[in-house]
Amino acid sequence: MKKTGTNYRVSSVGDIQTLGRVTLKGELALTGAEISVNELPAGASVPFVHSHKRNEEVYIILKGKGQFYVDGDEFEVEEGSVIRVDPAGARCLRADDQMPIRYLCIQTEANSLVQFTQGDGVVLETKPTWLK
Ligand code: ZN
Repeated sequence: MKKTGTNYRVSSVGDIQTLGRVTLKGELALTGAEISVNELPAGASVPFVHSHKRNEEVYIILKGKGQFYVDGDEFEVEEGSVIRVDPAGARCLRADDQMPIRYLCIQTEANSLVQFTQGDGVVLETKPTWLK
């Protein structure tokens, strides 16, 4: 489903089983983050090591397992692992030889978050039908 309203946009990344890599910044008109939904087949690796100029990244492993590389350190990651990498961190990720790895990568400008959750949220009086 695709739908756009004054203050929202809905899209779909399609078949999450076979998506490869989908970035959401353009699809959702994001203004403060880039989010990608990714899957590497068993034994596959991101084909390069990279860092960033200004953005930190958070990797959230949704399914599978693999190995993560940051600045020469290599460690195991699996479903439920969450990894934050500073902009300067030299990073790479590969899927385990026996199973694919599916993960989200959220990229935001380092040190840009000044308020969040209840510090930024405003509870309103309006309600959806299921709360009335
Ligand atoms: Zn990156």
